Amino acid sequence: MTTEESSPRIIVRLEGHEFYYPVSDILRLFTGEIPKEEDGRVVSGAGFLSSCIPSSEKALVLVSSVSDDWIETYVEKESGEKGVWLFMDKKDLALPLNREVKRQLYFVLSRFSGKEFPWGSLTGIRPTQVARELTSEQEMTHIYDVRPDKARLAFLTQKREDAVLDGSSPESLHVYIGIPFCPSRCSYCSFISQEAPRKRELLPSYVDAVLRELYQVLPKISSPIETLYIGGGTPTVLPEVLFEKFIDGVFSHPELTGLKEVCVEAGRPDTITEAKLAVLLKHGVKRICINPQTLCDATLTRVGRKHTAQDFIGAFQMAKKMGFSIINTDLIAGLPGESSEEFCDSLRRIIALSPENITVHSLSKKRRSSLRRDEIVSSEDPELQKIEEMLSFASETLIDAGYFPYYMYKQKDTLGGHENTGYCREGTECIYNVAMMSDQRSVLSFGAGGMSKRIFPGNRIERCPCIKEPSQYIRDVELMAEKKIRFFSEP
Ligand code: SF4
Repeated sequence: MTTEESSPRIIVRLEGHEFYYPVSDILRLFTGEIPKEEDGRVVSGAGFLSSCIPSSEKALVLVSSVSDDWIETYVEKESGEKGVWLFMDKKDLALPLNREVKRQLYFVLSRFSGKEFPWGSLTGIRPTQVARELTSEQEMTHIYDVRPDKARLAFLTQKREDAVLDGSSPESLHVYIGIPFCPSRCSYCSFISQEAPRKRELLPSYVDAVLRELYQVLPKISSPIETLYIGGGTPTVLPEVLFEKFIDGVFSHPELTGLKEVCVEAGRPDTITEAKLAVLLKHGVKRICINPQTLCDATLTRVGRKHTAQDFIGAFQMAKKMGFSIINTDLIAGLPGESSEEFCDSLRRIIALSPENITVHSLSKKRRSSLRRDEIVSSEDPELQKIEEMLSFASETLIDAGYFPYYMYKQKDTLGGHENTGYCREGTECIYNVAMMSDQRSVLSFGAGGMSKRIFPGNRIERCPCIKEPSQYIRDVELMAEKKIRFFSEP
């Protein structure tokens, strides 16, 4: 017998519906495993729930059933009886059916295992979107098992998101340019970014390709461009001369001057030089991101970032002195081996620098990352509890310090289903972030790995992915440009 066969599993039998994704989302939250979809069943390793399944039983079997008259979910005992059970008459159904199926499965698994998650059954949907549909925080808690402090955060954020969207035309287009290279690869990275020192010979052709794509596509686009975000990767990893060529090339395009907002990621402090910042200022760019992720040097070394906390402080102070008016800094809660005290200390020291924006991320663990599961979660509860403490501390401390949450999103692979939240000082919200995350504005992406999306009336969304591999992108950039022109011109 293989280890896989002998390990306990969780099986959810679907009856009368095919909501594989919603069911997988909830199972993944409880087990930390990626479930498989089989004929009429969703099957997962028991992962975090292993200790809840008696060693005599090979599997925990649940049934998620939808009939003409009711929706029910229950644990099926070996005797065929129903264990923990939730039932709803269809006449009382207030949610879309897929959300009710998730709500029930969350309830049953939570009562069976005694485990609860801060966002309850809200997976695969942005909390602020749900807040928009509801009348009160209490309703969110009651329906979706969301913890009251998280419901409050969702409602606060949603109001700010709406205010930003009110000031942005629904027809507007938001442009993203990606430079998927970094000085080294962080061990937790979930992006497609490659190490620039190993790809030195590729960088000039990549810049040429992006500019070619830009110049080919933009003249064919009729929607008014409102914002530009240059991200990555780390755009400032480009050597000074090439960085200047790239930035000059971008801002020589008439469509990209006089925009409402421009933001450039100068993410890694070790890539920032006075000359590169001067190039940005020459083109009127006053908003940048400098992202330490933590100010604990031991953690920075552990995750493979080749800079110190002092490098960040030096870069931040230089940028402020040179005249950048809005600087965002990112922090991550849950970096491997980092204690709550170290995270809280980083946050306090960052607040002392008074950046206009602070974004607090929760560690996400995508397959692309080189971290293995046991490096991230050695024992689930203390680790998840720790992230919870970090996020609660961040939220309270930032709000007390005069920041407010203005956009929020959740990623599937975030530990414990935690959120990422952008905080800012009054009047310094990043429109691009809200537009992008809200799924209410169209985004035109340039560069390898970018995802363009079009928002149609009635909230229909269509997406157009770009080749991820930079060398392939360079080779096929003309095809990518044509694809995007077609994507944005089709009715
Ligand atoms: S700086 Fe960001 S994009 Fe670059 S390797 Fe680290 S996490 Fe990935």
